[in-house]
Amino acid sequence: MKYELPVLPYETGALEPVIGKQTIELHYGKHLQTYITNLNNLIAGTKFEDADLVTIVKESDGPLFNNAGQTLNHNIYFLSFSPNGGGEPSGKLAEAIKSEFGDFENFKKEFNAAAVSLFGSGWAWLAKDASGKLSIVKEPNGGNPVTKGLTPLLGFDVWEHAYYLDYQNRRADHVSALWDIIDWKAVESRY
Ligand code: MN
Repeated sequence: MKYELPVLPYETGALEPVIGKQTIELHYGKHLQTYITNLNNLIAGTKFEDADLVTIVKESDGPLFNNAGQTLNHNIYFLSFSPNGGGEPSGKLAEAIKSEFGDFENFKKEFNAAAVSLFGSGWAWLAKDASGKLSIVKEPNGGNPVTKGLTPLLGFDVWEHAYYLDYQNRRADHVSALWDIIDWKAVESRY
């Protein structure tokens, strides 16, 4: 199987000012493309050649895990935004957030704290278990909650390449701003 860049459901400049056009062009067009190219090269001729991405992430390690993980992570990330995003989730996801975190504001506070406190490069995830119970998971580098048997619903990329052009060292400001472009319909579809 040859993996390809996902098609963005928005123009590269459409998420400004939360994420700048140049950041999207580099992050999506260069960083993600590189992960995908590396992934395709690494699976060629191996038992993973026709495997789906989640299987590869669960069963690999080393450079293959890193590149497969980052492909999976960014496929979720870039398809979680909309220039018309923001607000709050509805339906079953909203109920689950209320049940686990008390209310949406407290969920955001706990999620932001996880994203800001993650040392170095990595991801903050909202994930669900088989029963639908939610949790916030911090993963270093290219990690994804699927390795813990969880389903990822929403991920914030806190590698510096995700925000440095727009926010320099101010990761907390970037994380706080991301809520304004979350496409909750896309996130709800994963729940
Ligand atoms: Mn990234």
